[in-house]
Amino acid sequence: MDQPTRVLDGVKIAAEIKAEVGAEVRALKAAGVTPGLAVVLVGHVAASEIYVRSKVKACAELGIASESHTPPESVTTEELLALIAELNTRDSVDGILVQLPLPAHVDTRRVLEAVSPAKDVDGFHPINAGLLQAGRPGLKPCTPAGVMEILRRSNIKVEGAHAVVLGRSDIVGKPMAMLLLNANATVTVCHSRTVDIARYTRDADILVAAIGRPGFVTAEMVKPGAILIDVGINRITDVADVHRFFPGDAARAKQFAERGSTLVGDIDPAAFATSGAYTPVPGGVGALTIAMLMHNTVQAAKARRGAGA
Ligand code: NAP
Repeated sequence: MDQPTRVLDGVKIAAEIKAEVGAEVRALKAAGVTPGLAVVLVGHVAASEIYVRSKVKACAELGIASESHTPPESVTTEELLALIAELNTRDSVDGILVQLPLPAHVDTRRVLEAVSPAKDVDGFHPINAGLLQAGRPGLKPCTPAGVMEILRRSNIKVEGAHAVVLGRSDIVGKPMAMLLLNANATVTVCHSRTVDIARYTRDADILVAAIGRPGFVTAEMVKPGAILIDVGINRITDVADVHRFFPGDAARAKQFAERGSTLVGDIDPAAFATSGAYTPVPGGVGALTIAMLMHNTVQAAKARRGAGA
């Protein structure tokens, strides 16, 4: 008999993770350690400012100390490297997060690679990427780690499943593939040069879409009963797209009328009906990223300071 489609509620799972992290913070504090996150935000990019505010707010909610460093747009690579060096050596700082994008004149790679791997709570450092590949403990990128938490906490079997990952970025696609492989899935990675992507997606038991293309995965491209994980966050501003992706959805139409835009993932919502389970956009994977950042900060504190581990 067909099972009904399940919505994988990212907001609820993120709240569970935050509650657990909050309890860990209290235990660490009782042992005399207050985990600390330092955020570096350069210039005034509106979206970055919103993200950083959310991260600082989450720290405050969970009892994690946070400090924001806000150098001007004109900051040089050398000045940022000096700031990172200072944060690397300061014992009260457990996690360092450099909000991207940095201005074009800054050498982003040099700055990110200057962050001590032990404090690299975004999990972007090549040392952490290497540890992930080797299947060894390390700090893992927040978004794919969040996807694994969604799967685990929703009792979705990964072992033995054919997992197809769309996208191969260093931030999402590649670490996602590695995490699924380490969890004993059989993994296929597709990207912009893959010929006939539907051939792979149709065979996926678990499909993770992370390409940044609105509604790219259509209903015909997925197997009935598949688990659909939509990492994509795409803002659509054309009313025709709203009608195409959300036909008859009065709430979306109202939101679009008020804001002039709405969000859609990389999976056409029409594909959700025959899936086994899916993450909505918004309210799915996106909700997990900050929770996993908080988790990573506490893990970094425990690993580096040896407290409460
Ligand atoms: P990215 O760095 O732009 O990488 C996109 C990947 O998708 C690349 O590997 C690219 O292939 C592939 N791709 C692009 N167009 C394609 C197509 N038509 N067919 C097949 N593959 C295609 O993006 P990202 O940072 O990984 O982010 C991906 C999406 O996830 C975006 O919508 C982003 O907003 C979202 N995101 C969400 C969160 C969250 O918290 N939920 C966090 C991060 C990102 P090539 O390598 O061949 O160029």
